[in-house]
Amino acid sequence: MENRFQELKDVFPGMKSNISLRDNSTFKIGGMADYFYETGDSEELKSVIKFCKDKGIDFSVIGGGSNILFSDNGYRGLVIVYKNSFGKFDPVFQDDDKVYLKIDASVLLSEAVIKISNAGYSGFEWAVGIPGTIGGAINGNAGAFGGSISDNIIEVSTYSVGEGEKVFSKEECDFRYRSTIFKKTQKHVILSGVFSFVKEDNSSVLARVKANIQKRAEKQPKHFSAGSIFKNYEGRCNRKLYKKYPELEKFSENELVPAGYLIDRCNLKGMRIGDAQIDQKNGNFIVNVGNAKADNVVKLIHIIKKEVNDRFGILLDEEIKYIGEFK
Ligand SMILES: Cc1cc2nc3c(=O)[nH]c(=O)nc-3n(C[C@H](O)[C@H](O)[C@H](O)COP(=O)(O)OP(=O)(O)OC[C@H]3O[C@@H](n4cnc5c(N)ncnc54)[C@H](O)[C@@H]3O)c2cc1C
Repeated sequence: MENRFQELKDVFPGMKSNISLRDNSTFKIGGMADYFYETGDSEELKSVIKFCKDKGIDFSVIGGGSNILFSDNGYRGLVIVYKNSFGKFDPVFQDDDKVYLKIDASVLLSEAVIKISNAGYSGFEWAVGIPGTIGGAINGNAGAFGGSISDNIIEVSTYSVGEGEKVFSKEECDFRYRSTIFKKTQKHVILSGVFSFVKEDNSSVLARVKANIQKRAEKQPKHFSAGSIFKNYEGRCNRKLYKKYPELEKFSENELVPAGYLIDRCNLKGMRIGDAQIDQKNGNFIVNVGNAKADNVVKLIHIIKKEVNDRFGILLDEEIKYIGEFK
Protein backbone atom coordinates (compact mmCIF):
# COMPACT_ATOMS: atom_id res chain seq x y z
CA MET A 1 0.00 0.00 0.00
CA GLU A 2 2.90 2.36 0.81
CA ASN A 3 4.34 1.89 -2.71
CA ARG A 4 0.98 2.44 -4.31
CA PHE A 5 0.53 5.66 -2.36
CA GLN A 6 3.99 6.90 -3.32
CA GLU A 7 3.23 6.16 -6.97
CA LEU A 8 0.04 8.26 -6.74
CA LYS A 9 1.73 11.04 -4.77
CA ASP A 10 4.61 11.31 -7.24
CA VAL A 11 2.16 12.23 -9.98
CA PHE A 12 -0.46 14.03 -7.86
CA PRO A 13 1.33 15.77 -4.97
CA GLY A 14 -1.96 16.64 -3.21
CA MET A 15 -2.72 12.93 -2.75
CA LYS A 16 -3.48 11.89 0.85
CA SER A 17 -3.67 8.51 2.55
CA ASN A 18 -5.77 7.13 5.42
CA ILE A 19 -8.40 9.84 5.39
CA SER A 20 -11.61 9.62 7.39
CA LEU A 21 -14.68 9.27 5.20
CA ARG A 22 -16.80 10.22 8.18
CA ASP A 23 -15.46 13.76 7.79
CA ASN A 24 -16.45 13.74 4.13
CA SER A 25 -20.07 12.70 4.47
CA THR A 26 -23.06 14.64 5.79
CA PHE A 27 -24.01 11.46 7.72
CA LYS A 28 -20.71 11.70 9.65
CA ILE A 29 -20.31 7.92 9.28
CA GLY A 30 -17.58 5.80 7.71
CA GLY A 31 -14.08 4.36 8.09
CA MET A 32 -10.88 5.37 6.35
CA ALA A 33 -10.14 5.65 2.64
CA ASP A 34 -6.78 4.18 1.63
CA TYR A 35 -6.18 7.16 -0.67
CA PHE A 36 -8.00 10.46 -0.95
CA TYR A 37 -7.88 13.33 -3.44
CA GLU A 38 -9.89 16.52 -3.68
CA THR A 39 -9.98 18.56 -6.85
CA GLY A 40 -12.16 21.18 -8.46
CA ASP A 41 -10.38 21.02 -11.79
CA SER A 42 -11.90 18.84 -14.51
CA GLU A 43 -8.59 18.26 -16.34
CA GLU A 44 -7.00 17.03 -13.14
CA LEU A 45 -10.04 14.85 -12.39
CA LYS A 46 -9.67 13.17 -15.79
CA SER A 47 -5.91 12.59 -15.24
CA VAL A 48 -6.47 11.01 -11.82
CA ILE A 49 -9.16 8.69 -13.20
CA LYS A 50 -7.00 7.70 -16.16
CA PHE A 51 -4.04 7.03 -13.87
CA CYS A 52 -6.18 4.81 -11.63
CA LYS A 53 -7.50 2.83 -14.62
CA ASP A 54 -3.97 2.35 -16.00
CA LYS A 55 -2.63 1.20 -12.63
CA GLY A 56 -5.67 -0.91 -11.66
CA ILE A 57 -6.53 1.21 -8.61
CA ASP A 58 -10.19 1.16 -7.56
CA PHE A 59 -11.68 4.64 -7.33
CA SER A 60 -14.96 6.33 -6.53
CA VAL A 61 -15.87 9.92 -7.49
CA ILE A 62 -18.09 11.76 -5.05
CA GLY A 63 -19.32 15.34 -4.66
CA GLY A 64 -20.63 16.64 -1.35
CA GLY A 65 -21.02 13.18 0.21
CA SER A 66 -24.65 13.98 1.05
CA ASN A 67 -26.34 10.90 -0.39
CA ILE A 68 -23.82 8.24 0.62
CA LEU A 69 -23.40 5.65 3.35
CA PHE A 70 -19.71 4.84 3.69
CA SER A 71 -18.80 1.45 5.19
CA ASP A 72 -17.36 1.31 8.70
CA ASN A 73 -14.41 -0.46 7.04
CA GLY A 74 -13.81 2.51 4.76
CA TYR A 75 -12.75 2.17 1.14
CA ARG A 76 -9.90 0.13 -0.32
CA GLY A 77 -8.86 2.44 -3.10
CA LEU A 78 -9.03 6.13 -3.97
CA VAL A 79 -11.94 8.39 -3.07
CA ILE A 80 -11.94 11.45 -5.34
CA VAL A 81 -13.96 14.47 -4.21
CA TYR A 82 -14.95 16.65 -7.17
CA LYS A 83 -16.02 19.88 -5.53
CA ASN A 84 -15.08 23.53 -5.99
CA SER A 85 -16.24 26.64 -4.16
CA PHE A 86 -15.18 28.71 -7.17
CA GLY A 87 -16.56 26.41 -9.90
CA LYS A 88 -17.37 27.86 -13.29
CA PHE A 89 -20.67 29.27 -14.58
CA ASP A 90 -20.24 30.03 -18.31
CA PRO A 91 -22.94 31.85 -20.29
CA VAL A 92 -23.66 29.85 -23.44
CA PHE A 93 -26.45 31.87 -25.05
CA GLN A 94 -29.29 34.18 -24.16
CA ASP A 95 -32.36 35.71 -25.75
CA ASP A 96 -35.07 38.03 -24.38
CA ASP A 97 -36.67 35.36 -22.14
CA LYS A 98 -34.05 32.77 -21.36
CA VAL A 99 -30.41 32.35 -20.44
CA TYR A 100 -28.36 29.21 -21.05
CA LEU A 101 -25.49 28.52 -18.63
CA LYS A 102 -22.87 25.81 -18.54
CA ILE A 103 -22.29 24.93 -14.88
CA ASP A 104 -19.37 22.84 -13.68
CA ALA A 105 -20.31 19.58 -11.90
CA SER A 106 -17.99 20.61 -9.05
CA VAL A 107 -20.13 23.66 -8.17
CA LEU A 108 -22.10 23.44 -4.92
CA LEU A 109 -25.83 23.30 -5.61
CA SER A 110 -26.44 25.80 -2.78
CA GLU A 111 -24.08 28.27 -4.44
CA ALA A 112 -25.76 27.78 -7.81
CA VAL A 113 -29.21 28.47 -6.30
CA ILE A 114 -28.04 31.75 -4.76
CA LYS A 115 -26.08 33.00 -7.79
CA ILE A 116 -28.78 32.12 -10.29
CA SER A 117 -31.71 33.40 -8.24
CA ASN A 118 -29.92 36.65 -7.37
CA ALA A 119 -29.29 37.23 -11.06
CA GLY A 120 -33.05 37.02 -11.71
CA TYR A 121 -33.01 33.62 -13.38
CA SER A 122 -35.78 31.21 -12.44
CA GLY A 123 -35.33 27.42 -12.41
CA PHE A 124 -33.41 26.38 -9.29
CA GLU A 125 -35.76 27.67 -6.55
CA TRP A 126 -36.73 24.09 -5.58
CA ALA A 127 -33.09 23.20 -4.88
CA VAL A 128 -32.47 25.56 -1.99
CA GLY A 129 -31.21 23.68 1.08
CA ILE A 130 -30.14 20.54 -0.80
CA PRO A 131 -26.48 19.87 0.00
CA GLY A 132 -23.95 18.53 -2.50
CA THR A 133 -22.74 19.43 -5.96
CA ILE A 134 -24.27 19.92 -9.40
CA GLY A 135 -22.60 16.59 -10.39
CA GLY A 136 -24.21 14.68 -7.53
CA ALA A 137 -27.57 16.30 -8.25
CA ILE A 138 -27.41 15.37 -11.95
CA ASN A 139 -26.29 11.82 -11.14
CA GLY A 140 -29.34 11.14 -8.95
CA ASN A 141 -31.77 13.59 -10.61
CA ALA A 142 -32.19 15.39 -7.30
CA GLY A 143 -35.48 17.13 -6.73
CA ALA A 144 -37.84 18.74 -4.25
CA PHE A 145 -41.15 20.60 -4.10
CA GLY A 146 -42.20 19.33 -7.54
CA GLY A 147 -38.98 20.41 -9.31
CA SER A 148 -35.93 18.40 -10.27
CA ILE A 149 -32.53 19.00 -11.85
CA SER A 150 -33.73 17.47 -15.13
CA ASP A 151 -36.33 20.25 -15.61
CA ASN A 152 -33.76 22.74 -16.91
CA ILE A 153 -31.10 20.47 -18.41
CA ILE A 154 -30.19 20.80 -22.04
CA GLU A 155 -27.14 18.48 -22.09
CA VAL A 156 -24.53 16.89 -19.81
CA SER A 157 -20.78 16.56 -20.46
CA THR A 158 -19.07 13.47 -19.10
CA TYR A 159 -15.79 11.58 -19.09
CA SER A 160 -14.91 7.91 -18.98
CA VAL A 161 -11.62 6.23 -19.77
CA GLY A 162 -13.21 3.99 -22.40
CA GLU A 163 -15.19 6.66 -24.26
CA GLY A 164 -13.26 9.85 -23.40
CA GLU A 165 -15.38 13.01 -23.28
CA LYS A 166 -18.99 12.43 -24.25
CA VAL A 167 -21.95 14.80 -24.33
CA PHE A 168 -25.36 13.34 -23.43
CA SER A 169 -28.51 15.04 -24.70
CA LYS A 170 -31.32 15.36 -22.15
CA GLU A 171 -33.05 12.30 -23.65
CA GLU A 172 -29.86 10.24 -23.48
CA CYS A 173 -29.52 11.05 -19.75
CA ASP A 174 -32.72 9.00 -19.27
CA PHE A 175 -33.91 11.16 -16.39
CA ARG A 176 -36.53 9.45 -14.23
CA TYR A 177 -37.61 9.84 -10.64
CA ARG A 178 -34.26 9.91 -8.73
CA SER A 179 -32.66 7.94 -11.53
CA THR A 180 -30.44 8.59 -14.56
CA ILE A 181 -28.30 6.63 -16.99
CA PHE A 182 -25.27 7.79 -14.94
CA LYS A 183 -26.60 6.37 -11.68
CA LYS A 184 -27.59 3.12 -13.39
CA THR A 185 -24.37 2.39 -15.29
CA GLN A 186 -21.82 4.22 -13.09
CA LYS A 187 -19.58 4.40 -16.14
CA HIS A 188 -19.33 8.16 -16.68
CA VAL A 189 -18.08 10.95 -14.47
CA ILE A 190 -20.15 14.09 -14.88
CA LEU A 191 -18.08 17.17 -15.75
CA SER A 192 -20.72 19.84 -16.36
CA GLY A 193 -24.28 20.52 -17.43
CA VAL A 194 -25.87 23.12 -19.70
CA PHE A 195 -29.06 24.51 -18.13
CA SER A 196 -31.73 26.92 -19.31
CA PHE A 197 -33.26 29.48 -16.95
CA VAL A 198 -36.18 31.86 -17.43
CA LYS A 199 -35.42 35.56 -16.92
CA GLU A 200 -37.60 37.12 -14.26
CA ASP A 201 -37.58 39.90 -11.73
CA ASN A 202 -35.14 38.68 -9.06
CA SER A 203 -37.41 39.69 -6.15
CA SER A 204 -40.05 37.16 -7.35
CA VAL A 205 -37.43 34.42 -7.74
CA LEU A 206 -35.93 35.14 -4.32
CA ALA A 207 -39.41 35.15 -2.72
CA ARG A 208 -39.94 31.56 -3.94
CA VAL A 209 -36.47 30.58 -2.67
CA LYS A 210 -37.36 32.03 0.73
CA ALA A 211 -40.70 30.17 0.84
CA ASN A 212 -38.89 26.91 0.10
CA ILE A 213 -36.33 27.56 2.87
CA GLN A 214 -39.27 27.90 5.26
CA LYS A 215 -40.96 24.68 4.02
CA ARG A 216 -37.69 22.76 4.32
CA ALA A 217 -37.04 24.02 7.85
CA GLU A 218 -40.43 22.64 8.90
CA LYS A 219 -39.86 19.09 7.65
CA GLN A 220 -36.11 18.48 7.62
CA PRO A 221 -34.36 16.88 10.62
CA LYS A 222 -31.57 18.87 12.23
CA HIS A 223 -29.26 15.90 12.96
CA PHE A 224 -26.60 14.54 10.56
CA SER A 225 -28.15 12.46 7.76
CA ALA A 226 -27.83 11.49 4.11
CA GLY A 227 -31.23 12.85 3.11
CA SER A 228 -33.99 10.42 2.19
CA ILE A 229 -32.86 6.84 2.67
CA PHE A 230 -35.44 5.36 0.27
CA LYS A 231 -37.05 6.43 -2.97
CA ASN A 232 -40.78 6.91 -2.78
CA TYR A 233 -42.66 3.91 -4.13
CA GLU A 234 -43.65 4.29 -7.79
CA GLY A 235 -46.91 2.59 -8.63
CA ARG A 236 -50.19 1.64 -7.00
CA CYS A 237 -50.61 -0.59 -3.97
CA ASN A 238 -52.58 -3.80 -3.81
CA ARG A 239 -56.33 -2.98 -4.07
CA LYS A 240 -57.15 -4.50 -0.68
CA LEU A 241 -54.81 -2.02 1.03
CA TYR A 242 -56.95 0.98 -0.06
CA LYS A 243 -59.76 -0.31 2.16
CA LYS A 244 -57.48 -0.69 5.14
CA TYR A 245 -55.60 2.57 4.54
CA PRO A 246 -58.04 4.92 2.74
CA GLU A 247 -55.51 7.77 2.89
CA LEU A 248 -53.47 5.87 0.28
CA GLU A 249 -55.95 7.23 -2.30
CA LYS A 250 -54.41 10.67 -2.08
CA PHE A 251 -51.13 9.32 -3.44
CA SER A 252 -52.73 7.47 -6.35
CA GLU A 253 -53.01 10.53 -8.62
CA ASN A 254 -49.26 10.72 -9.32
CA GLU A 255 -48.64 7.08 -8.38
CA LEU A 256 -45.87 7.90 -5.91
CA VAL A 257 -46.39 6.61 -2.37
CA PRO A 258 -44.06 8.45 0.05
CA ALA A 259 -41.64 6.08 1.77
CA GLY A 260 -42.03 8.27 4.87
CA TYR A 261 -45.76 7.52 4.98
CA LEU A 262 -45.17 3.73 4.71
CA ILE A 263 -42.53 3.84 7.46
CA ASP A 264 -44.80 5.91 9.66
CA ARG A 265 -47.69 3.42 9.25
CA CYS A 266 -45.34 0.64 10.38
CA ASN A 267 -44.83 2.61 13.62
CA LEU A 268 -41.08 2.71 13.11
CA LYS A 269 -40.39 6.39 13.72
CA GLY A 270 -38.01 6.90 16.63
CA MET A 271 -36.58 3.34 16.49
CA ARG A 272 -32.90 3.45 17.43
CA ILE A 273 -29.94 1.10 17.00
CA GLY A 274 -26.72 2.42 18.51
CA ASP A 275 -26.66 6.11 17.63
CA ALA A 276 -28.64 5.68 14.41
CA GLN A 277 -32.29 6.58 14.69
CA ILE A 278 -35.28 6.63 12.36
CA ASP A 279 -36.17 10.30 12.60
CA GLN A 280 -39.13 11.13 14.84
CA LYS A 281 -40.54 13.66 12.33
CA ASN A 282 -39.62 12.29 8.90
CA GLY A 283 -39.54 8.48 8.83
CA ASN A 284 -37.60 8.43 5.55
CA PHE A 285 -34.58 10.00 7.27
CA ILE A 286 -32.21 7.98 9.44
CA VAL A 287 -30.25 10.38 11.60
CA ASN A 288 -26.93 10.08 13.36
CA VAL A 289 -27.60 11.31 16.87
CA GLY A 290 -24.03 10.82 18.11
CA ASN A 291 -21.50 8.31 16.91
CA ALA A 292 -23.58 6.04 14.68
CA LYS A 293 -21.95 3.24 12.71
CA ALA A 294 -22.82 2.24 9.15
CA ASP A 295 -23.73 -1.15 10.58
CA ASN A 296 -26.40 0.48 12.81
CA VAL A 297 -27.89 2.21 9.75
CA VAL A 298 -27.85 -1.00 7.70
CA LYS A 299 -29.73 -2.85 10.47
CA LEU A 300 -32.40 -0.14 10.57
CA ILE A 301 -32.69 -0.26 6.77
CA HIS A 302 -33.24 -4.05 6.92
CA ILE A 303 -35.94 -3.66 9.57
CA ILE A 304 -37.73 -0.93 7.58
CA LYS A 305 -37.64 -2.96 4.36
CA LYS A 306 -38.99 -6.06 6.09
CA GLU A 307 -41.77 -4.26 7.99
CA VAL A 308 -42.93 -2.28 4.94
CA ASN A 309 -42.86 -5.40 2.79
CA ASP A 310 -44.77 -7.45 5.38
CA ARG A 311 -47.46 -4.81 5.80
CA PHE A 312 -47.78 -3.33 2.30
CA GLY A 313 -46.16 -5.88 -0.01
CA ILE A 314 -43.80 -3.12 -1.17
CA LEU A 315 -40.04 -3.55 -1.43
CA LEU A 316 -38.50 -0.13 -0.85
CA ASP A 317 -35.48 0.78 -2.93
CA GLU A 318 -32.61 2.78 -1.43
CA GLU A 319 -31.94 6.29 -2.76
CA ILE A 320 -28.60 6.47 -0.96
CA LYS A 321 -25.47 4.96 -2.43
CA TYR A 322 -23.40 2.44 -0.44
CA ILE A 323 -19.64 2.91 -0.81
CA GLY A 324 -17.14 0.38 0.54
CA GLU A 325 -17.73 -3.20 1.65
CA PHE A 326 -20.98 -4.17 3.34
CA LYS A 327 -21.74 -7.68 4.61
C1 LIG B 1 -30.26 17.30 4.86
C2 LIG B 1 -30.36 16.73 3.48
C3 LIG B 1 -31.44 17.06 2.67
C4 LIG B 1 -31.55 16.51 1.39
N1 LIG B 1 -32.62 16.85 0.62
C5 LIG B 1 -32.73 16.34 -0.61
C6 LIG B 1 -33.85 16.68 -1.45
O1 LIG B 1 -34.73 17.44 -1.08
N2 LIG B 1 -33.90 16.14 -2.69
C7 LIG B 1 -32.94 15.30 -3.16
O2 LIG B 1 -33.04 14.85 -4.31
N3 LIG B 1 -31.88 14.95 -2.40
C8 LIG B 1 -31.75 15.45 -1.15
N4 LIG B 1 -30.68 15.10 -0.37
C9 LIG B 1 -29.70 14.12 -0.85
C10 LIG B 1 -28.46 14.74 -1.54
O3 LIG B 1 -28.17 16.01 -1.02
C11 LIG B 1 -28.66 14.85 -3.04
O4 LIG B 1 -28.90 13.58 -3.57
C12 LIG B 1 -27.44 15.48 -3.72
O5 LIG B 1 -27.79 15.82 -5.04
C13 LIG B 1 -26.22 14.58 -3.74
O6 LIG B 1 -25.12 15.35 -4.24
P1 LIG B 1 -23.63 15.11 -3.70
O7 LIG B 1 -22.73 15.96 -4.50
O8 LIG B 1 -23.55 15.23 -2.24
O9 LIG B 1 -23.45 13.59 -4.13
P2 LIG B 1 -22.64 12.49 -3.30
O10 LIG B 1 -23.42 12.14 -2.09
O11 LIG B 1 -21.23 12.89 -3.13
O12 LIG B 1 -22.72 11.27 -4.32
C14 LIG B 1 -23.96 10.65 -4.58
C15 LIG B 1 -23.77 9.76 -5.82
O13 LIG B 1 -23.48 10.60 -6.93
C16 LIG B 1 -22.24 10.21 -7.53
N5 LIG B 1 -21.57 11.43 -8.00
C17 LIG B 1 -21.27 12.56 -7.29
N6 LIG B 1 -20.64 13.44 -8.09
C18 LIG B 1 -20.55 12.87 -9.32
C19 LIG B 1 -20.00 13.28 -10.59
N7 LIG B 1 -19.42 14.47 -10.77
N8 LIG B 1 -20.08 12.41 -11.62
C20 LIG B 1 -20.67 11.19 -11.49
N9 LIG B 1 -21.21 10.75 -10.32
C21 LIG B 1 -21.14 11.59 -9.26
C22 LIG B 1 -21.45 9.50 -6.42
O14 LIG B 1 -20.52 8.59 -6.96
C23 LIG B 1 -22.58 8.81 -5.67
O15 LIG B 1 -22.92 7.60 -6.32
C24 LIG B 1 -30.55 15.63 0.92
C25 LIG B 1 -29.45 15.32 1.74
C26 LIG B 1 -29.36 15.85 3.01
C27 LIG B 1 -28.19 15.49 3.87
